[in-house]
Amino acid sequence: MARTLTQLAGLNVTVLDGVGPARAKALGSMGVDSVLDLLTHYPRRYLDRTRQEPIGRLVPGDEAMVLATVRSCSSRTTRGRQRMVTASVSDGSGTLSITFFNQPWRERQLAAGTDVVLFGKVDDFRGRRQMTNPVVDLVGDQTGRIVPVYPQSEKAGVVTSEVARMMAEVLRRAGTFAEPVPASILGQWDLTDRTAAYRGIHAPESMGEVTTARNRLVFDELLRLQLRLVQRKRYLETVTPGLAHDVDGPLMQQLVDGLPFALTDAQQRVIAEITADMAAPGPMHRLLQGDVGSGKTLVALAALLVAVQGGHQGALMAPTEVLAEQHAMGIGALLEAFSVPDTSTDTLFSGEPSAQRPLRVSLLTNRTPAAQRRRILAGLADGTVELVVGTHALIGAEVSFADLGLVVIDEQHRFGVEQRAALRARSTGLAVPDVLVMTATPIPRTAAMTVYGDLDVSVLDTKPPGRTPIVTTWARTPDDVDAMWAAVRSEVTAGRQGYVVCPLIDESEKLDAAAAGDTHAELTAPDGPLADHRVGLLHGRLPAVERDATMEAFRAGELDVLVATTVIEVGVDVPNATAMVILDADRFGIAQLHQLRGRVGRGRHESLCWLVADPSTPDGEARIEALVASEDGFALAEVDLELRGEGTLMGERQKGRNDLKLASLRRDAVWVQRARSAAEEIVGDDPTLSGHPLLVEELDTVLPDDDDTDYLLKG
Ligand code: ADP
Ligand code: MG
Repeated sequence: MARTLTQLAGLNVTVLDGVGPARAKALGSMGVDSVLDLLTHYPRRYLDRTRQEPIGRLVPGDEAMVLATVRSCSSRTTRGRQRMVTASVSDGSGTLSITFFNQPWRERQLAAGTDVVLFGKVDDFRGRRQMTNPVVDLVGDQTGRIVPVYPQSEKAGVVTSEVARMMAEVLRRAGTFAEPVPASILGQWDLTDRTAAYRGIHAPESMGEVTTARNRLVFDELLRLQLRLVQRKRYLETVTPGLAHDVDGPLMQQLVDGLPFALTDAQQRVIAEITADMAAPGPMHRLLQGDVGSGKTLVALAALLVAVQGGHQGALMAPTEVLAEQHAMGIGALLEAFSVPDTSTDTLFSGEPSAQRPLRVSLLTNRTPAAQRRRILAGLADGTVELVVGTHALIGAEVSFADLGLVVIDEQHRFGVEQRAALRARSTGLAVPDVLVMTATPIPRTAAMTVYGDLDVSVLDTKPPGRTPIVTTWARTPDDVDAMWAAVRSEVTAGRQGYVVCPLIDESEKLDAAAAGDTHAELTAPDGPLADHRVGLLHGRLPAVERDATMEAFRAGELDVLVATTVIEVGVDVPNATAMVILDADRFGIAQLHQLRGRVGRGRHESLCWLVADPSTPDGEARIEALVASEDGFALAEVDLELRGEGTLMGERQKGRNDLKLASLRRDAVWVQRARSAAEEIVGDDPTLSGHPLLVEELDTVLPDDDDTDYLLKG
């Protein structure tokens, strides 16, 4: 009978020869409990024995791999107080001396008689061949041309040769693997069968076999992930009752006609995508990616008006109060002359043209005064507030909507899945409101396919015309910093404005606020660089009224410079601001720097950004260099992914159900796409995968539905 992964997941490693409770515990400490865990404990690299060199032929300066036996090993403390371990190894053709610094455990590892594979650079030390700090693999007496090297644990004492031995037993006893993936799909991408794949990855005859095996196993990992995502997406589309909006009303057109500029082609395209989704009966679940300043707010507003003109309510949730206030103000101004049918009178039935009343836009945050808050809540509950803009306050338990048609979530990276679902659940209607999430933190396309794989994605890929590029400078030396303040002063003198962003201290709002206060005091001191200017201070600990007043004064041009914490990170839109100074810039991540920089470059005037930093880490340096080199959010996202690895990217949403052991979203981008299309084909109109019982079983084993998924499915 063919083996399934589920069967192997049900077997403890103790079924293997020589694995008792102690070995099982050691393996457990490496995350290997079941036979399936072991089978998917893949080699970290391979030694190609054909490339191995005899010690006697080594030439100083070579990078070489040798297979040798340890003859002796000893350790001592050098005069520089370093621990030094020295071993002598030989392979019959000669002797090599190897030296390790500050790795005292090597003495235990390299007991006399141990067979080792060494990889390193050959030096000449007083006429003898030597390697310093080589890579060491304990492959034991493994035979074969290609030797897999497994991740090993020094602490648990599990070495690669032991893993290889166990793996040979697993492969032998497992026999033939069942095939859950339809043959047509395997054929389409020329993928080998599972039995060959597990053999090829663990016991290859050639490096070509490894590649073939890897392709298959990478595909399987990505396919499982995509199946889950597509399944969930299909489920939402087909099972959950959504709203089919009547999209033909007058309001959206009225908005467009009233704008002082034309929508960009990208905005028009994206609005059309959203409108089509809204008109369709299934619930919309769409992500709008657009770089900072690409004009997402207007797209959101157009979508909200589509909901309102169809007789529903709309909600816009922003991550900060500053941003919610700004949105409410901007939207309120744009919709000032807008009206909706007044259904509170009987005119609907009297044959008269129906009466109109002004469209009502409200702002709801935790700072909304009690009386006003009560009025807004009543308006939301009886449907007389058409649009509401707010923060987390919108998902408060006492908030309920008469007929919520669309939820827009701005800067979605700041919110969790839970909050999205919670806002959707606020509606008292039976149908699930449409959801549009927006983010200015672009992630590479294939990564988006995975991280947001259950959403449809729209991209605003061009910015409104007339923007001038932002000139970004790295201010590293005190001279650079002096020049920077001089330039800020001349911007101000020319009538422009600027921001100074203060370092982020350990996520503590209180400390951040203190730092911002200190910076403000230094800059405005009699001998400070901004002594003669009007400089405001903005941070999260200020009383609400004071914050409002400061932001308002800055918008009105009554302040020249705003010293702020990252409260201004997202969304803040003051086109006259042309100077951005980011202090201790190496403390911020790439996405955050890009966001902060995006506060300038929003008007007609050329903007300047300085990143003040003397980074202490190569990564910090790389981040700053990336920002200086590019203003393109998508390009920066690639660099970010490169620097941080995908673990962090997957973290938020795929926590605990990430079985990507071989696949890399970066290196295997092409396989992400193939797996996506395969998953779409397999799921078809059958979100429960009833025609694929083996796949269902495997998904339940490897990627069990967790609470997060349940939550989404319940809508
Ligand atoms: P973001 O995508 O970062 O949220 P915003 O929606 O805040 O960007 O838009 C940035 C600025 O661009 C705003 O001042 C907005 O009024 C302006 N804007 C948006 N669309 C257009 C357009 N089609 N033409 C000109 N300016 C536009
Ligand atoms: Mg925005």
